[in-house]
Amino acid sequence: MKEFQLIEHFFRDHGLKRRDVELGIGDDCALVNPAENKSLAISCDTLVENIHFLPDMPASALGYKALAVNLSDLASMGAEPAWMTLALTMPRVDKQWLTEFSQGLFEAAEYYGVSLVGGDTTRGPLAMTITIHGQVPQGKALTRAGANNGDWIYVTGTLGDSALGLDILLGKQQASEKHKSYLIGRHYSPTPRVLAGQALRTLATSAIDLSDGLASDLQHILNASSLGALIDVDKLPLSNALLETVSKEQAINYALAGGEDYELLFTVPESQRGAIDTALLHAGVKFVKVGQVCAGEKLKFIQNGVPFQPGFAGFEHF
Ligand code: ADP
Ligand code: MG
Repeated sequence: MKEFQLIEHFFRDHGLKRRDVELGIGDDCALVNPAENKSLAISCDTLVENIHFLPDMPASALGYKALAVNLSDLASMGAEPAWMTLALTMPRVDKQWLTEFSQGLFEAAEYYGVSLVGGDTTRGPLAMTITIHGQVPQGKALTRAGANNGDWIYVTGTLGDSALGLDILLGKQQASEKHKSYLIGRHYSPTPRVLAGQALRTLATSAIDLSDGLASDLQHILNASSLGALIDVDKLPLSNALLETVSKEQAINYALAGGEDYELLFTVPESQRGAIDTALLHAGVKFVKVGQVCAGEKLKFIQNGVPFQPGFAGFEHF
């Protein structure tokens, strides 16, 4: 199968065609018509075999996740997903793999309203880069900067599941069949919090998506505002699957330092707390307050009201 046949067969005229796509796959460029008074939000993420995913990861999960991690970046800025390009590098043309990969990709694309408008196809070690384009009302995007002293810190969903799922896949942890499928599912198919991000646009002062773990990602928000924070580890949202698979202490470490949750962390002034409750209820997302922004430049943790020293390596704030 030649390159153009492959594009025709698996990608061109597949999935959703948005009305604002004037010209999609097939020419030298795609032409899209952004809405008036909106900024384009653009981000790209690459997944490389053996580095970002294991060689036996199901192709449909890979297609889904390649888009989901990009959507998560749009979510954290409060942007609405619109268009994507896909740069795909493969060692050979494997039709079965491509069928499943494109199914997973288009499943996520249709759900979140994204059109595939172009890309590039090359031979080499398996890797894929999606560039996502979203739109956000001008001046309304959420950023990492903007948190204020006293703001409350919230996170969506539950934390640590994905990292434990990965450790189960690597044979480093064991879980019951039921928990295993949930945890691996969280690793393979993260839920980008797209609607929650949009709902937070006028209410949160800053936001970030959790790709590297709360301890590390929160630090980006704190650095942007030269502030510190106090996190109450008893408040961390932990799933039953996590709590019933590892010790409480390990669960906390997964939640603070495990990567790839793709939940949102955001800061909210006291005056907007009620509004946040309503907005996120409408977005259908669970969320919980885990701490507060404070003066100083340190990230600190407490448990049962006393200082808590995280057990994971690489944490040097104490
Ligand atoms: P060019 O030589 O101009 O880069 P290509 O032959 O690489 O063109 O691609 C032909 C068309 O197919 C272009 O519109 C390109 O955007 C699209 N395309 C190529 N690979 C992919 C892919 N993996 N997914 C989606 N579109 C693709
Ligand atoms: Mg090309």
